[in-house]
Amino acid sequence: MSEEKTYTGSCFCGAVQFTATGAPAAMGYCHCQSCRQWSAGPVNAFTLWAPEALDVIRGADNIESYNKTPASTRKWCKTCGGHVFTDHPDMGLVDIYAAVLPELDYRPEVHVHYQESVLPIKDGLPKMKDVPKEMGGSGETMAE
Ligand SMILES: [Zn+2]
Ligand SMILES: [Zn+2]
Repeated sequence: MSEEKTYTGSCFCGAVQFTATGAPAAMGYCHCQSCRQWSAGPVNAFTLWAPEALDVIRGADNIESYNKTPASTRKWCKTCGGHVFTDHPDMGLVDIYAAVLPELDYRPEVHVHYQESVLPIKDGLPKMKDVPKEMGGSGETMAE
């Protein structure tokens, strides 16, 4: 087996600690209204992983979750309220927020749900109207 890197992360207060091993399946920015409303921020930096890449090493019982839709199980620390993961069962992937994985060399490659953007980002990366076809979207891109 090839040598796989392990990255350590935690919630805002440290009660929840975890590792991610290997490489993310995708990294980018989500501009969707759900991410914005939940995070209270204009854009969400995501890193998507196979679920088995994630290992919660401390505070697993301190994680609360909420489903607004079956597509996203949003998870946070019960102590500090800090967001940590979102499960996407339809995609078979888990989003470990880039902000809680400081050791990872975050290299965004795409912007998704850009049609909902309130913060245009002219960085030259592809701007997906919704999400790529392989993630169940239209695969259409749009201007920055
Ligand atoms: Zn916490
Ligand atoms: Zn989103």
